[in-house]
Amino acid sequence: MHTIPHWINGSPLPGTGTGTAPVFNPATGAEQARVVLGGAAEVDAAVRAASAAFETWQDSSLSQRTQVMFAFRQLLVDHEEELARIISAEHGKTVDDARGEITRGREVVEYVCGLGDVLKGSFSDQVSRGVDVHDFRQPLGVVAGITPFNFPAMVPLWMHPVAIATGNTFILKPSERDPSAANFVARLYRQAGLPDGVFNVVHGGKDAVDAILAHPGIEAVSFVGSTPIAKYVHEQATSYGKRVQALGGAKNHAVVLPDADLEFAADHLTAGAYGSAGERCMAVSVAVAVGDAADALAAVLARKANEVRVGPGDAPGTDMGPLVTRAARERVENAVGTAAAQGATVVVDGRGLKVEGHEEGFFTGPSLLDHVTTEMDAYREELFGPVLAIVRVDTLDEAIDVINANPYGNGTALFTASGEAARRFQRRVKVGMIGINVPVPVPMSYYSFGGWKDSLVGDSPVHGPEGVRFYTRPKVVTTRWPRPAQQVTAGFTFPTSS
Ligand code: NAD
Repeated sequence: MHTIPHWINGSPLPGTGTGTAPVFNPATGAEQARVVLGGAAEVDAAVRAASAAFETWQDSSLSQRTQVMFAFRQLLVDHEEELARIISAEHGKTVDDARGEITRGREVVEYVCGLGDVLKGSFSDQVSRGVDVHDFRQPLGVVAGITPFNFPAMVPLWMHPVAIATGNTFILKPSERDPSAANFVARLYRQAGLPDGVFNVVHGGKDAVDAILAHPGIEAVSFVGSTPIAKYVHEQATSYGKRVQALGGAKNHAVVLPDADLEFAADHLTAGAYGSAGERCMAVSVAVAVGDAADALAAVLARKANEVRVGPGDAPGTDMGPLVTRAARERVENAVGTAAAQGATVVVDGRGLKVEGHEEGFFTGPSLLDHVTTEMDAYREELFGPVLAIVRVDTLDEAIDVINANPYGNGTALFTASGEAARRFQRRVKVGMIGINVPVPVPMSYYSFGGWKDSLVGDSPVHGPEGVRFYTRPKVVTTRWPRPAQQVTAGFTFPTSS
């Protein structure tokens, strides 16, 4: 069994006595590796390496940074299969799904390959006689990213290409449950020609996070994970004077109107609910069935849930793999039991599913709950598992009220044939990312990703233009080059233009 080390200053760094944690193969239930757990010493070593690297990286030319990002992008293409298998083996998701997350992450690298355009400042000629104004943006320094288990490649890729391309140096603290993708990416960066110390990985849990939040050498923290930890990270890091972006949990509703193509909607809801075993922040977890749509929709959803093929993520034909840990499976299966006790109808019951040859794996099957109300735990809690709850309402306006009363506001979708309904929905719903006949509306990399309400603490979404803004700060320069003969009188009154 191997131990997964930190990655600091371009090399692996073994643990320094702060312990290790198990990394499981969720499909077999077996421990397959240990990951070192860092604390203040490892974070400090990473900050020292990143600070030294920043001295030169901040002055690298745009073309040098662009070349590194082009090379890195190609390496992500060349090594996609290998990286996808690493992700699948530690997370449990299917290899195809892991390829999907790598592609979506790679798109952020493609966005920053256009760095020259992204970082262009503006110029105002002759704002006063003989005076011009221009602005430009500069990197912050050493910045850190703290990321969740569910997208071990894509979520960090929302952060580090943008931070690094804009001239910062980066410390990644990935999830301790599936840590290997981070080290793999670190090697690709080195191969792409990124100087040592620009990208570092410190593994660990709360101790490593607390050390990052408190370290005076770190200028900004990007966080993606559950809402309670997002709130904690935001509060702590801002109290230390850092810039913070903190994305939290979700409960995503897909509304189905009676005029929708029910077969199409149910297909997409099934994939959106059970893909990646529901362990996506954009997973569809609530189907809001409007009026006459409800009975027919519930019947088609039940048929499709029963057709989902559950198995190991690396087996051909698998639609849905196991959950990430044994504890996650217990939590999800208990939630289905509680829903039944609270009056929901368990239409499809995924509890107790055994996959032949993988009896110790952390599998549960897809569950479908009907007649769920907004008071039930299955509605109120983020279950983060393959459970789809049907809530029945009479009108679109009622559906919008349900969504707006929910504390989360990450993603939502509407299935309809009506442009008028779609327009009303997208204007009134208090959610950051909206799909019209698109179940999992993850924005492209040249837009920014972020929810509303408890799904985003603070006010900064990730990647796209907002990401560039987050990792840079502006300077505005007012310039005068007077000709020797020109009389420019100094005044004691506040300067105005003339
Ligand atoms: P998590 O909040 O448990 O962990 C996220 C990170 O915080 C990890 O790196 C972890 O090591 C660290 N952490 C955990 N407990 C901590 C503590 N007490 N103090 C300090 N740091 C701590 O989240 P997770 O279980 O890894 O991921 C699933 C969650 O992430 C879900 O809630 C999901 O909705 C959310 N998520 C949100 C988005 C989004 O874009 N909004 C994207 C992906 C995942």
